Amino acid sequence: MLLKARSESKELLVMRSLHTRMNLSEKNKLRYLNLEKGYEGEVKFDSLVDPFHEDRYILNDLLLEVNHSYFQIDSLILSQGVIHLLDIKNFEGDFYFETDKLHSITTDREYKNPIYQLKRSTSLLRQLLKNLKCNDLVDATIVFINPEFTLYQAPINQPLIFPTQLNRFLKNLQKPSSKLTNHPKELAEKLLSLHQTENPFTFLPEYKYEQLQRGVYCKSCRSFALSIENSIFICKDCGSKEKIVLALLRTIDEFKLLFPDRKITTKNIYDWCQVDLHMRTFNRVLQKNYTVFGKTSDTYFK
Ligand SMILES: [Zn+2]
Repeated sequence: MLLKARSESKELLVMRSLHTRMNLSEKNKLRYLNLEKGYEGEVKFDSLVDPFHEDRYILNDLLLEVNHSYFQIDSLILSQGVIHLLDIKNFEGDFYFETDKLHSITTDREYKNPIYQLKRSTSLLRQLLKNLKCNDLVDATIVFINPEFTLYQAPINQPLIFPTQLNRFLKNLQKPSSKLTNHPKELAEKLLSLHQTENPFTFLPEYKYEQLQRGVYCKSCRSFALSIENSIFICKDCGSKEKIVLALLRTIDEFKLLFPDRKITTKNIYDWCQVDLHMRTFNRVLQKNYTVFGKTSDTYFK
């Protein structure tokens, strides 16, 4: 049973938007692409685990804190007496281990050793469980999900699952447990209640309103070249269609995400969307979908 679904982190959403609306530095661009790739891998893993929801309690994308240390868990699957802590990696290409780094031969880039990260989160989870007076076994594994991933000289005695082992690993996870009690469910609900919503490690580059390309873009290919036909936007690049109202709401959401301190006023949104539509249209969309605050001259929406 899925108790906590996965969604894009605020960091990924902001980076995705900035990537579309400004030129990111090489470093930030790489960071963004890694976030996107990581998320894609996690979603792929979710789709493989999906069929056996009912037998297990699944918590995705959990941020926990113990003794002032935060740790993030990609997937936690709870069954009778065993907690599977899974770290999903979507690395692609040829890699090898160097003492404390994972090195990509394909791109000549270095990554933090995921085994160290896994050890840290496992040990913090054990501490947390101890505080909760729970002595379930924690079984921690790194799952390399990408079929194009190869690790040369892979250590044999480490908790690593490679793409060629994934099917067997999933089958094992699905094995029914002998006795079923309420314990896994209660523990899963307890851990869910401890989930932290504000991630103190969210890293965002600096950006200003004036730096960004304003406007509505195509939701499929992110092109700003849109034409209007009746009440629909049509992308000049890929032909995708989207109702104007939906595209505006999506673009207002992005404004809120990028500039939480700016007020949502008809004028601000009109300027942000840069669409050849009457100011009245924006006002109507806001009136219909948001709550109005303030008097006529300084009306804003939430
Ligand atoms: Zn398009």
